[in-house]
Amino acid sequence: MTYDYDLFVIGGGSGGIATARRAAEYGAKVGLAEVGPLGGTCVNKGCIPKKLMVYTSHFPSLFQEAEGYGWSPVKSTLDWDKMVTAVNQEVERLNGIYQRMLDNSKVELYRDYGKLLDAHTIVVGEKQITADKILIAVGGHPVRPNIPGIENTIISDQMFTLPEQPKRIVIWGGGYIGVEFACIMHGLGSDVIQVIRRDKILRGFDEDLQSLIQESMEHHGIRILKNCEITSIEQTSQGLKIALQGEQNTEMVLADTIGLAATGRKPNLENLGLEKAGVEVKNGAIAVDKYSCTSQPNIYAVGDCTDRINLTPVAINEGRAFADTEFGGKPRLMSHENVPSAVFSYPEAATVGLTEAEAKEQYGEDAIKVYRSKFRPMYYVLPGKEEKTLMKLVVHQESDRVLGAHMVGDHAAEIIQGVAIAVKMGAKKADFDATVGIHPSSAEEFVTMR
Ligand code: NDP
Repeated sequence: MTYDYDLFVIGGGSGGIATARRAAEYGAKVGLAEVGPLGGTCVNKGCIPKKLMVYTSHFPSLFQEAEGYGWSPVKSTLDWDKMVTAVNQEVERLNGIYQRMLDNSKVELYRDYGKLLDAHTIVVGEKQITADKILIAVGGHPVRPNIPGIENTIISDQMFTLPEQPKRIVIWGGGYIGVEFACIMHGLGSDVIQVIRRDKILRGFDEDLQSLIQESMEHHGIRILKNCEITSIEQTSQGLKIALQGEQNTEMVLADTIGLAATGRKPNLENLGLEKAGVEVKNGAIAVDKYSCTSQPNIYAVGDCTDRINLTPVAINEGRAFADTEFGGKPRLMSHENVPSAVFSYPEAATVGLTEAEAKEQYGEDAIKVYRSKFRPMYYVLPGKEEKTLMKLVVHQESDRVLGAHMVGDHAAEIIQGVAIAVKMGAKKADFDATVGIHPSSAEEFVTMR
């Protein structure tokens, strides 16, 4: 049987594009369908524009801190329009780069939705295309709780094109997106109220990290309403009327406010024709094995639509492992263990490996030794700021292996990326101890903890 393509990819986000290019490098004939701008959530509505806004939001504190070092006060205001334009211009530049990368790799791009007709046939717009192997990399989208007036909230996708800066923003949700936008918007000068349904933000993170980030956010002036649900949202002539239930049993009417629902994401599985192609869905995500293969042996899926670890580098790695295995003659698996990640909050946090609670659950309370260092970094001494950095190692006593490394503080993502290599390699605490610190730095604490 001959097919139009060796591989057809549905979805032109980070995972889809990386896979298409890798397979094409091995000589496969590859087609890809993407109706939206290239690069998917990460480039267009996620990591990239978010990080640019994170950078923007840091300047007011930098200006303040400069005074502690002897600089005269800086009076500066944010030109919202200019920021939005600059951020979106960068996104467009990246869209162009992705287009050129696909062209250079000779991946044929279809600017339409792709839908499965059967295990080897995809309908793209009006066209029927056949492929030996198919990769589904369609990502996910934000979801909002179904409460009265939820249409009065926006989702994270819209945060990058707001026509003007909200005086105030109410953010619902205490996950990555809620926390990052709470810190960004506060840094940019908006009043921020964050509503979370537990007592701590960032469920699943190490408790010490949760506590320090939350305390710091509150210390900076973000109001966090805990153990609290929003039951209705109404747009009135006086402003946004938000009814709360739980620890705060009240109704707030807030002028000049927008509401952001950051209450999670789910895979984009609608109208994909998965049943027709025999692709099984479990818990709202495409079910895959460790090779990212679905229940249909020639159809694979990577990234957020499989809801494993929803991070760009994971989707890329899953896709490249598939391409190396199926087209490169180099079978390999993507390891989902010890995947580092960061929260670009203020203060920033990053983490790799097991949390203290996970390690104790897995190995037993007495089997784990925890090393902690909490301090004010030297940088904040002259500005007189009480910002704290926390570093933490979770160690298995018997084997001396470092099971987890966690950090809250400036450059946490940059620092943990390096530490993650050691953790992934199975480094022992003794290896950390034998490493000479770089002085003076915050990072040296990771090799001097006793
Ligand atoms: P998360 O799942 O991280 O957080 C969702 C938040 O909304 C949680 O606090 C959750 O509470 C709360 N929530 C969910 N449903 C309800 C409800 N019905 N009522 C009240 N609260 C609710 O999702 P995000 O959208 O923040 O992020 C999605 C994913 O995107 C992340 O998991 C991550 O993989 C990725 N991401 C990564 C980033 C990074 O690497 N820096 C940045 C942004 C996103 P509870 O905890 O109680 O369930």
